[in-house]
Amino acid sequence: MPEVHKLCCHCGEIELEVSHELGRLVECNCSTCARSGFLHWKVPVEAVRLLTQKRRLSVYLWRDVDGGHHFCPTCGTAIFRTGYRDRISINARCLVGVDVFALEVERLDGRNEMPPGPTI
Ligand SMILES: [Zn+2]
Repeated sequence: MPEVHKLCCHCGEIELEVSHELGRLVECNCSTCARSGFLHWKVPVEAVRLLTQKRRLSVYLWRDVDGGHHFCPTCGTAIFRTGYRDRISINARCLVGVDVFALEVERLDGRNEMPPGPTI
């Protein structure tokens, strides 16, 4: 039985469940991550279950049509990102009952290692 982690946005309108061990966490300094404070935890798509209605989510697309920054339209919390083929990047800052200061976090120099998107 895999670990099950619950996540929610600040207002509680969006809730997710992730059935996967809490693994590698990465913070990034690219144009979007630097602004949102997104803490990446990439898991297989099938490990993620949306507990609330999909129509409540908003998405910001800036580079590709098949991937985006999904956030709560009420409180603005960025909860996950798509566009990684068979994986979804979960914002580990939304984990319920987990103090992110207790987690080990790697850094990715996305500002220099990723090609810029069209609108930065
Ligand atoms: Zn919210």
